[in-house]
Amino acid sequence: MSSTATKHVAIIGGGILGVSTAVHLLREGASVTLLTERSLASEATGRSLSWLNSAGERSTPYHQLRLAGVDRYRTLFAADPSREWLQFGGGLMWNAAGQREVTEARHAYETSVGYDSKLVAPDGIAALTPGIDAGAVPENAIFNPGEGWVSLPDLVEFLMEEFHSRGGRLVLNTGKSSVVLDGGRAVGVETEAGETYDADSVLVACGAATPAVVAPLGVEIPNGSPVSMLVVTKPVAHDVRAVMNTPRAAVRPNPGSTFALDHDWYEGRITEHADGTFSIPDDVVQELADEASKLIAGNPELKPASWKIGYKPIPGDGEPVFGELGQVPGCFVAFTHSGATLGLIAGELLAGEILTGNRHPMLATFRPGRFS
Ligand SMILES: Cc1cc2nc3c(=O)[nH]c(=O)nc-3n(C[C@H](O)[C@H](O)[C@H](O)COP(=O)(O)OP(=O)(O)OC[C@H]3O[C@@H](n4cnc5c(N)ncnc54)[C@H](O)[C@@H]3O)c2cc1C
Repeated sequence: MSSTATKHVAIIGGGILGVSTAVHLLREGASVTLLTERSLASEATGRSLSWLNSAGERSTPYHQLRLAGVDRYRTLFAADPSREWLQFGGGLMWNAAGQREVTEARHAYETSVGYDSKLVAPDGIAALTPGIDAGAVPENAIFNPGEGWVSLPDLVEFLMEEFHSRGGRLVLNTGKSSVVLDGGRAVGVETEAGETYDADSVLVACGAATPAVVAPLGVEIPNGSPVSMLVVTKPVAHDVRAVMNTPRAAVRPNPGSTFALDHDWYEGRITEHADGTFSIPDDVVQELADEASKLIAGNPELKPASWKIGYKPIPGDGEPVFGELGQVPGCFVAFTHSGATLGLIAGELLAGEILTGNRHPMLATFRPGRFS
């Protein structure tokens, strides 16, 4: 194997986790080949709400990792606050009518772990964040001032400039690539067409396809990925700065004065076809846009410009899966929900583990070995 300075890493998957890990590896002097099935950001990373947060309740290690994730975005933001694709305008959430106590309990929990959380009545929202139709809020809401959002396709483009300037090798349109083994150890990647790329270590960062890519290695990672849809609207004049999570629509500002919208109530209306494509009735897309319009001051007409459907990567137990496979030395995985929030920190920590072999304590509870 080559020395640390020239260690060669092959990464399968051109989403945010693959791209971020690649750039962090290059910064540490590794040589990197990034291979992906089609184009960059062709799957979840290209259709993500990408709200940067650790709101609500979850395991302490997951909460801490997400806070570190938001911290890395804050560093990036501070370097240039004018970027249209990364903003920290806070987050605003509310529940359906009759759930006042649920919202209060969430706020109390967030406060108990030091997460910045303001419980607010509808008439207090305008003083905290602009552009919201407070009439849409039935009882109370929570404003989390420390949250933000990123447009992942723009972040990938930004990181890829550094990838190329540091000499990374990008291989697009590989089809379904697989991990090559020699004596039980990962030694490279083979594309669907049979081209091989040798490596000292391999990272599988294939989003919802990660369990399928490691299955031939004899590794089982449960997959809980649901189908999802992200709608991007046509440009519309608005003052919204916060990401909104509400009973019928999640809404975030998006570059170009557009909005990104998603939710889960229409999952059952999505059809998966035999060729792997998805469809949804146009009226459901418009219904989501209409729901979002109700949340925005002045209730502007929102016109869907594009909508993308596919799997949202979620491991079977809901927790991230990061690190080397016990059964396959040299093969690492990155498979997680909230991969937008974790994108920078996960790439940083995984790059360190791949290059040094030192396991980072923040990833201790997220090892793939917990399923075996
Ligand atoms: C609708 C939606 C809303 C979301 N909202 C949020 C949010 O608010 N906050 C948050 O933090 N996160 C959110 N997420 C999650 C976040 O977007 C994802 O976790 C993240 O984008 C996943 O990145 P990834 O690199 O793991 O996977 P992906 O972006 O899916 O990339 C995997 C890549 O691997 C490639 N690939 C797969 N198999 C192979 C193979 N065999 N060979 C070669 N290439 C292969 C794919 O083509 C793809 O390009 C959301 C996701 C969705 C879909």
